Amino acid sequence: QAVIEARGLSKDYGNGRGCRGITLSVGTGEAFGFLGPNGAGKSTFVKMLVGLIQPTGGNAEIMGHAVGSLEARRHFGYLPELYRYQEWLSGEEVLELHAKLCGLDRHTAKKRIRELLDQVGIGLRGRDRVKHYSKGMQQRLGLACALLNDPQLVFLDEPSSALDPIGRMEVRKLLQQLRQQGKTIFLNSHLLEDVELLCDRVALLNNGNILHTGTVTEVLQEK
Ligand code: ADP
Ligand code: ADP
Repeated sequence: QAVIEARGLSKDYGNGRGCRGITLSVGTGEAFGFLGPNGAGKSTFVKMLVGLIQPTGGNAEIMGHAVGSLEARRHFGYLPELYRYQEWLSGEEVLELHAKLCGLDRHTAKKRIRELLDQVGIGLRGRDRVKHYSKGMQQRLGLACALLNDPQLVFLDEPSSALDPIGRMEVRKLLQQLRQQGKTIFLNSHLLEDVELLCDRVALLNNGNILHTGTVTEVLQEK
């Protein structure tokens, strides 16, 4: 069964930019890479799938539910590009806030937050204020936020682009772990290395259009 199904999904910003009729399907447990240069339309596409932007054409479903619906929202986590924290909060407080937004009860939230802080390697530093975190740690915190409700599907928008080499390595390791847990991953990146390491299948995007879809090797041969 398809976890993501998009049919001719479009966003016309009115300036010739956006997404032009994107059709693709992602299956359970698949790690799918959306590869393309800056401005190709990757963020726009994911924002439509998570319900932040209203498409101007086509349609899409998450686990059979129309994008934008509450039912669809229940099934995924999302790590936006350049996630902004209230940086005077501690990592733990950021997660508590998100847990409330997800509707987790206090007891479940507490347990889950402790597990996630360990899983992403923040541990006891969860008590420090976010403004004292490195960018890599901030991204790992963002990933923990995206995983709070234990989603089957995770959208990641350029998760390692703003990081130094060590931060990149840390984030890539975590993504490998998610994959091993059987999560379905949709990864936006302009970095070939990101998708090469993680993804089973890739779509190459340019100027709002998919040029090729296939394994990383297939797509690179087409270029
Ligand atoms: P990517 O994530 O691949 O870098 P985006 O989806 O962010 O690409 O942007 C795709 C194109 O749409 C870019 O040229 C960008 O400048 C343009 N764009 C994005 N948001 C808007 C907006 N709100 N209004 C007009 N143009 C936009
Ligand atoms: P610290 O005590 O660690 O130096 P503070 O809590 O004094 O940190 O503030 C850290 C930053 O967050 C400051 O730039 C402050 O202006 C900002 N800040 C703190 N609380 C708020 C708030 N409620 N709303 C907006 N900004 C805040």
